[in-house]
Amino acid sequence: MLSQEVLNELIKILGKENVLTSKEDMITYSFDATADMPSQEPDVVVTPDTKEQVVAVVKLANKYQIPLITRGSGTNLSGGTIPIKKGIVLSMLKLDKIVEIDAENLTARVQPGLVIQRLNEAVASYGLIYPPDPGTVTTATMGGSVSECSGGLRGLKYGVTKDYVMGLEVVMANGDVIRTGGKTVKNVSGYDLTKLFTGAEGTLGIITEITVKLIPAPKYRRSMLAIFDNLDKAGKTIADIISNQVIPATLEIMDNVTIRTVENYAKVGLPTDAEAVLILEVDGSIEQVVVNEFNTVQKICKENGAVDIKLAQSDAERDGIFAARRAALPALAQVKPTTVLEDATVPRSKIPEMLKALKNIAKKYNLQIGTFGHAGDGNLHPTILTDESDKEEMERVHKAVDEIFKVAIELGGTLSGEHGIGMAKAKYMEWEFGQEGIAVMQKIKDALDPDHILNPGKMFGGN
Ligand SMILES: Cc1cc2nc3c(=O)[nH]c(=O)nc-3n(C[C@H](O)[C@H](O)[C@H](O)COP(=O)(O)OP(=O)(O)OC[C@H]3O[C@@H](n4cnc5c(N)ncnc54)[C@H](O)[C@@H]3O)c2cc1C
Repeated sequence: MLSQEVLNELIKILGKENVLTSKEDMITYSFDATADMPSQEPDVVVTPDTKEQVVAVVKLANKYQIPLITRGSGTNLSGGTIPIKKGIVLSMLKLDKIVEIDAENLTARVQPGLVIQRLNEAVASYGLIYPPDPGTVTTATMGGSVSECSGGLRGLKYGVTKDYVMGLEVVMANGDVIRTGGKTVKNVSGYDLTKLFTGAEGTLGIITEITVKLIPAPKYRRSMLAIFDNLDKAGKTIADIISNQVIPATLEIMDNVTIRTVENYAKVGLPTDAEAVLILEVDGSIEQVVVNEFNTVQKICKENGAVDIKLAQSDAERDGIFAARRAALPALAQVKPTTVLEDATVPRSKIPEMLKALKNIAKKYNLQIGTFGHAGDGNLHPTILTDESDKEEMERVHKAVDEIFKVAIELGGTLSGEHGIGMAKAKYMEWEFGQEGIAVMQKIKDALDPDHILNPGKMFGGN
């Protein structure tokens, strides 16, 4: 509980309308999109209009040693915005301007509360795109996606958010404001602080401005849905496409549980008896190259026993296929009260083994697991359909999740391809980095946020 003195100071900095204290508001900010996490109401939520207000709030939090949890749209899937130690939630949604589109240098400067899709709408008339494309592109913010280093449906060819962040403005825990990187394509001055803050989940500083790289929009694209009667064949197809050195823009998988659920939810004409479908898109600026790559991908699908291949004949058909994939999580979320979604990621050649392991884990723990995801970049989303109120089943869920991450690490993979660590995966960090690796990260945290006021309880657990 914050003292009236602190609340009065916040009102002085932000104005009464930007300081929320009602019970309804506290409940709203007590959770995010992550399932199976504890909820916790903050003491207060503030909604600054300016960077100067952000700086003043940080200085105040520092002075009184109050936890400060920065929040975009709260769509993260790792419990990253839950104010587990209470304190001040700093909502960045009002800082949502496009500061500059520099078409000469192929860059844009934006405020962190900008929704990703709005940047793409603004740069489309210049023939440019900002490629990072999480499923929540119409709701998630630039600041949240930079802080999670989000991926999405185009990660295979175009990479993830960190590949596009060129520079940042960051408010440090003591209120200092620093700038990292910039507009130059080449920049090797000093330590790479831009990369350090990208994916730091609000634990090292508060991002108040972002400079991103834009690229020319590809002129040609071809898309298809390949249908398989066997999950292993679909897994091998993915590995074969990559080893044949074709890099599609999109290579997504949905297993039978996901296909049936999506079809039931969205009625998009998916084959409900298929064991797996692959959603594939190749794109580029030279038509013949796109056609050749598309033909190679089709050939590999056929050689691996695809029972049917549906080519998208129009933009509308292509959008229908992609809409089916984007519906995967909302559709699965309707089946049972609780949807535990993971993003274990393995080297691409290990996708068939990971798919097999997931099937075995579902059987071993008698759980319903739907698997979909960005298979082309090794990033699967095994999604356990369960019910938080069923204590006995939840014990099996937790054991299954432990095993999913154990297998992913054993296969040379990582705890997170794009959803971050937050609270959800903090306990597994040592498996990936060892005690020594964790110690280095903790030293960085101690140096930049010595009192641990920024997003406590995330990344390493504890404080
Ligand atoms: C249906 C669904 C589909 C999804 N699909 C994908 C997908 O395909 N790929 C993918 O990568 N993710 C996906 N996600 C996860 C989520 O959408 C991303 O992590 C998203 O980028 C988070 O943005 P946000 O604005 O909601 O951030 P929030 O959830 O509000 O915050 C995320 C983290 O960033 C920190 N933060 C926010 N703003 C700042 C700032 N200005 N400065 C410092 N720290 C900050 C927060 O403290 C928190 O740790 C999906 C989520 C859902 C619910």
